[in-house]
Amino acid sequence: MTVEELQQLIRDVPDFPKPGIVFKDITPLLAHPEGFSRTVELLAERVQNYEPEGIIAIESRGFIFGTALALHLDKPLLLVRKRGKLPHDTVGQSYDLEYGTDHIEIHSDSVHPDGRYAIVDDLIATGGTAAATAELIEKQGAEIVCFGFVIELDFLNGRKLLGDRAVETLMHF
Ligand code: AMP
Repeated sequence: MTVEELQQLIRDVPDFPKPGIVFKDITPLLAHPEGFSRTVELLAERVQNYEPEGIIAIESRGFIFGTALALHLDKPLLLVRKRGKLPHDTVGQSYDLEYGTDHIEIHSDSVHPDGRYAIVDDLIATGGTAAATAELIEKQGAEIVCFGFVIELDFLNGRKLLGDRAVETLMHF
């Protein structure tokens, strides 16, 4: 399947979760075995070029693709979660939302200080979540060698927040 064919498996849901937002629903893609596996294969090929030692997946839809990539590339999977979800000692990072702030965490023994990691999520919108994840990892001394997203909302220019770090995206809307 081509990327254009894969894009047709993404469903637009207008006004979700609030008026004015067009939600990119990945569930039709996940329900299509050939489409899902081709998406993982294509994203894995791109991410592999940066030779990450581990895959960092962002809660929650990032877990779906992060898990698949980690298995496909035979790399460790590291979880970044919302506040209070991880059971052991954590390191955290707060970041600004449109209204208010949010907070993400990772286990403090997950990241190797001199490690090279890829951050994976389903979608980049404003880039705030991905940028906060990179800061969380980098403040522990590790390097982000690339980001891997299935979907990028180009009109929001979220990759600007990610600075010089490499960004790989399969589908552009
Ligand atoms: P952001 O921090 O603005 O880049 O938002 C990224 C996170 O929010 C991702 O984990 C996405 O799953 C989710 N997200 C933001 N906007 C959308 C959208 N229009 N459709 C689906 N998911 C979205």
